[in-house]
Amino acid sequence: MDHRTPKQSLHQPPLALASLEASPRTSEAPYRLLVEQQTDLIVQVDTEGRFLFVNAGYCKTFDKREDELIGQRFMPLVHPDDRAETEATMATLAHPPHRCYLEQRAMTRDGWRWFGWSDAAVLDEHGQVTGIIGIGRDIHEQKLAQLRLLQTQRMLELALESGGIGTYTANFTTGEVFIDDRYLAQIGYEPGQTQVTYDWWRANVHPEDLARFADQTEQVMFGGLDDFIAEYRFRHCDGHWVWIQDHARVYDRDPDGIALAASGLRIDITRRKEAELQLAYHAEHDPLTDLLNRRGMWRAIRSIQAQSQRGQRPHAIAILDLDFFKRINDEHGHLVGDQMLQRIATLLRDNTREADWIARWGGEEFLILMPDTNLAQARGLIERLRQQIETTRFLIDDRALQITVSVGLSAARLDEDDSQDALVSRADNALYAAKTAGRNRVYTEADLDAGAMSSPC
Ligand code: GH3
Ligand code: MG
Ligand code: MG
Repeated sequence: MDHRTPKQSLHQPPLALASLEASPRTSEAPYRLLVEQQTDLIVQVDTEGRFLFVNAGYCKTFDKREDELIGQRFMPLVHPDDRAETEATMATLAHPPHRCYLEQRAMTRDGWRWFGWSDAAVLDEHGQVTGIIGIGRDIHEQKLAQLRLLQTQRMLELALESGGIGTYTANFTTGEVFIDDRYLAQIGYEPGQTQVTYDWWRANVHPEDLARFADQTEQVMFGGLDDFIAEYRFRHCDGHWVWIQDHARVYDRDPDGIALAASGLRIDITRRKEAELQLAYHAEHDPLTDLLNRRGMWRAIRSIQAQSQRGQRPHAIAILDLDFFKRINDEHGHLVGDQMLQRIATLLRDNTREADWIARWGGEEFLILMPDTNLAQARGLIERLRQQIETTRFLIDDRALQITVSVGLSAARLDEDDSQDALVSRADNALYAAKTAGRNRVYTEADLDAGAMSSPC
């Protein structure tokens, strides 16, 4: 007896019983034998639900003798929670096709167990129901597994819904991708509005992000790596970019290990990503002037130094310190001082090259990093900047304020084992010399070496 497909087999007409009823001309004995041998439960009840017949399997399951059961109602054996549904389903037997299927728990010798019953009405010559024949099968294990599966499905659905998680299944052989509505909603499409294929997916990933996980994709497809984990920007249907966290797993490979199919989850992480980017930005920028802060500038110096050592290209830095800035605060107040710092930052931005990096290095100190620039070139650029500052009238709160700046310059030494600290320290020394020499001037490390500390630029 195949217990794996109870529904299918139970829905078949109960052949033995049909024949048992059908033909008074044939001998009943072989059919009775057949019925008695069944491990399924076979019963016949009258229209009041009283047993007219029970087979041995039924007696065994409920640990009752035949004579104890005949004439009794079956309903007391049914679980109270399943009685109403049992009654309602059996009531349909009065109408064509006079058959029904129902599942119910019953109190057996082993406690409550689930049974699937295929019932058929016995009709008289006027089409009136005179009794019911039922074939029952123990479906307890399947039913529990089915209930557990249902529970798991509900939990999964809840998790996907509350997490706003979209799902997809990709077939790499055909290039088809099956997605759910949440996947579509993340990128602004209505259900059924677009057909997703692997090529469509690739075409909508931000070009800068696609290259980043090309390696991982290769490994997942051909290298036996089962999990694909990536964060990337994906084009929303109205054109803007949505940050997606994508975690897929390969479930099927061909004999050569090439991935055939994968299932994945997609989460919209735009908010988190923007917050992360903002945090990263604030970690390296000065809130007052929006220039790089010290930390951001150290990172820039490190990266430019690495590049210039590889390419043997020079770079230079300038440290600018506003002269007598304290007086601005003292005479006009701290807020005016703040605005002055912002105006200086704007002036520096407007009068340096695209490739130059600018930081607020300290309170009223700025550092400019000039890639691909030697000391002489830097000197020319920064001297123009100094003049620009000197000649600018900063209009703040109806006041025309003037300020000057002292600058120390240094250039990277490509031939030697130069360090970032040493580069900055040489510029600092030059700045100190410029201050000592009377301010409003640009000094270079070369000026220090030549002992030209007293000669302004
Ligand atoms: P020197 O020519 O020697 O550089 O003189 P100075 O007055 O510029 O130098 P000092 O180091 O004595 O003073 C720096 C001043 O910069 C003191 C401080 O109040 C001011 N300062 C630093 N940060 C800020 C800021 O964020 N806002 C304002 N308004 N002032 C600041
Ligand atoms: Mg200072
Ligand atoms: Mg100063």
